[in-house]
Amino acid sequence: MLLEPAAAGSGIMFFRRDLGVEVPASFALVGETRLGTVLIRDAARVGVIEHLMAALSGAGIDDVRIELDGPEPPILDGDALCYLALIDAAGVREQDGRRDAIHVRKTIEVKSGEASVRLVPHEGRQFVFTIDFAGKIIGHQYFSFAFSEEGFRAEIAPARTFGFLSDLDALLKMGLSRGASLSNTLAIDGDRLANPQLLRFADEFVRHKILDAIGDLALAGAPIHGRFEGLRSSHALNNQLLRALFADEDNYVRVDS
Ligand SMILES: [Zn+2]
Repeated sequence: MLLEPAAAGSGIMFFRRDLGVEVPASFALVGETRLGTVLIRDAARVGVIEHLMAALSGAGIDDVRIELDGPEPPILDGDALCYLALIDAAGVREQDGRRDAIHVRKTIEVKSGEASVRLVPHEGRQFVFTIDFAGKIIGHQYFSFAFSEEGFRAEIAPARTFGFLSDLDALLKMGLSRGASLSNTLAIDGDRLANPQLLRFADEFVRHKILDAIGDLALAGAPIHGRFEGLRSSHALNNQLLRALFADEDNYVRVDS
């Protein structure tokens, strides 16, 4: 993966160098959400983009070109901190031009069974998330995060991805999630964690759900000012939420920030 500067106003653009296809980072191109958020344009797929998108959002980056020589960014440490470290090393430059923010004007809600997501009008960018998993390792976790770049670095970006050891084995056998391993993914094995030395927060799981939501919502193309409320939800509902938000122009207003 290669991150390159892009002109002001050009947004976040993926480029599959191996296929010669550009894939804009847009919610409208999300075509699959089973193992992560996957953009699909023609025959080109760009998968598991949410951690990188969260890092770009967390670093306040609006314009960047991301070249890939395969179907997904390297997962590295399974968090957003690893990408922030690379962005910090390269540096960030402010460009001239208008910078939009999207202000939520009406409550938008999407549900599926016991899971739901909402966007509620709110000053600033707020994320609250609740998860409930059977078993002792995750259980019930709640986290509320008022977005700031410093807060994102300290409280959200270090939270690693997680999964069940049984699923991980099956996925690896199917040739999927090949970047995931016991050195970057918190692996739940019944009532124990297979790699407890990786754990950075007791409530790391719900913090990672907020990291995913920040990454998925970054596909709006501009920061969303409002309160995001997630309940047991995942990538599919995050994408449906953006589609519902943008389905009606009365739901939001674009403001030069
Ligand atoms: Zn994730």
